[in-house]
Amino acid sequence: MSEIEIKELEWYLRDYFFRQYKQGNQEFDRESIAKEMISVYLRYRNSDWHKLNAMANSVVESLISRLVVKQLDGGPIQLTSELSRLQCSKCFYISYLGNNEPMRCLRCSAKELHEFPVRKH
Ligand SMILES: [Zn+2]
Repeated sequence: MSEIEIKELEWYLRDYFFRQYKQGNQEFDRESIAKEMISVYLRYRNSDWHKLNAMANSVVESLISRLVVKQLDGGPIQLTSELSRLQCSKCFYISYLGNNEPMRCLRCSAKELHEFPVRKH
C-alpha cells in the first residue's frame, strides 16, 4: 500500500465520519469500516476487502494517535468530537478536522481555513 493510497483513504474515512456524526453515529466497529467504504464510496466499489481493511486499520491507528477517535474497550472506536469541514484558503483542499487537532490544512499546513461550503447568511 502506498502513502498516496493511505492519504486518500484517510480523506474518505474522515468524510465518512463527518457524515455519520451528523446522523448521530459516533461509534464504529473497526471490522466493518472497510465494508462500509466499499458500499458508500464509488472510489472503493471494486476494492479488495483484505487490502482495504489493512489500509483502514493503519488509518484508524493514525487517527487514534491524533485523538480524532479513541479505542473503546472491546473493539469499537468512537469519535472524540464532531469533525469540521474546512477549506484551505491557500490550496483549496478540504480538510475534516477534529477538535483535538491543530487547525491547519492537512495538505499544506496553512492556518487560513474557512468553513466549507461557505454558509450564506
Ligand atoms: Zn492548504
